[in-house]
Amino acid sequence: MSITVVGSIAYDAVKTPFGERERMLGGAAVHFALAASFFDRVRVVGPVGDDFGEAELQVMRDREVDVTDVERVAGGKTFFWRGEYGWDLNSRETLDTQLGVFEGFQPKLSDASRASDVLFLANIQPDLQREVRAQLPAARFVALDSMNLWIDIARDSLVEAISSVDCVILNDAELRQLTGKPNLFSAAREVLSWGSSTGSAPDEAHPPYGARGPSVIVAKQGEYGAALVTRERFFSLPAYPLESVVDPTGAGDTFAGGFVGYIAAHLDDAADEDRLPDELLRAAMAHGTALASFNVEEFGTERVVRLDETEIARRVAELREITSFSGASAIG
Ligand code: AMP
Repeated sequence: MSITVVGSIAYDAVKTPFGERERMLGGAAVHFALAASFFDRVRVVGPVGDDFGEAELQVMRDREVDVTDVERVAGGKTFFWRGEYGWDLNSRETLDTQLGVFEGFQPKLSDASRASDVLFLANIQPDLQREVRAQLPAARFVALDSMNLWIDIARDSLVEAISSVDCVILNDAELRQLTGKPNLFSAAREVLSWGSSTGSAPDEAHPPYGARGPSVIVAKQGEYGAALVTRERFFSLPAYPLESVVDPTGAGDTFAGGFVGYIAAHLDDAADEDRLPDELLRAAMAHGTALASFNVEEFGTERVVRLDETEIARRVAELREITSFSGASAIG
């Protein structure tokens, strides 16, 4: 099984209380791809300018990420983002966003990218997310991320994009902003009610998960972890406890890479189910949480590129240990 991802491929300038980087590899699609590459083959779709270095592409190739559909636009400038964090690393200020080559970008996917069973619409203009979604009508699992900027300036298009996916992964504040509901559960319930315009034949035995609109909502809560809401169940995990967090940039996308990557790697186990089993979704939450915890230990992609499977497995095991409890249910 392989995963196609569309989203920003960027240069980031980031300042935190623990240091700064003026121009480092970033972008939602890049952070996602590096994390998901531990689970499955990943194909990245998106444009870069001729300022984008060969060394940055090699970072993805080294993790066996397929960069065939990374389009180099002659004379264009790579997406650029500048952000700054204060002592509260949960909130950041965006100081500059330059869309560069994403302006006017028309995604042209190779046959291989269109054949993926799993699609991740990483954070980018929702019109672009919809164009790519339309090119993978038969994908078995489709997830989407977005951010406050697109809720502010392109909400209608974003709602349309959301109604064509299975899974929405958003920060909890964005979920509230998107729905206008101050309560996380009612906000998640609202998004779960946004049906698909593509629809599926009622007699189809196992329609693709995405044919019915979102059925899985993940609310990211920064250093407090992440919550999972489906129509039937709720699950929540804290973040992995770290004493030193250096740069949270890309944590959300890295979480998504671990979460979606784990689901992609186990999708065949659930082939006969009409919805993804809770156990699968919960294990995916643990892997997303573990991956994100490595990402924030250093700037940008610096830590994840040195990561290995054993380290991930160890952190997932520690998370299981941290979150399990027993004891009598009655008091006294
Ligand atoms: P995260 O910290 O997971 O929210 O993602 C941070 C990444 O998102 C950075 O590497 C940025 O390059 C990228 N990014 C920031 N703003 C935008 C935007 N408006 N559209 C797409 N990507 C963005």
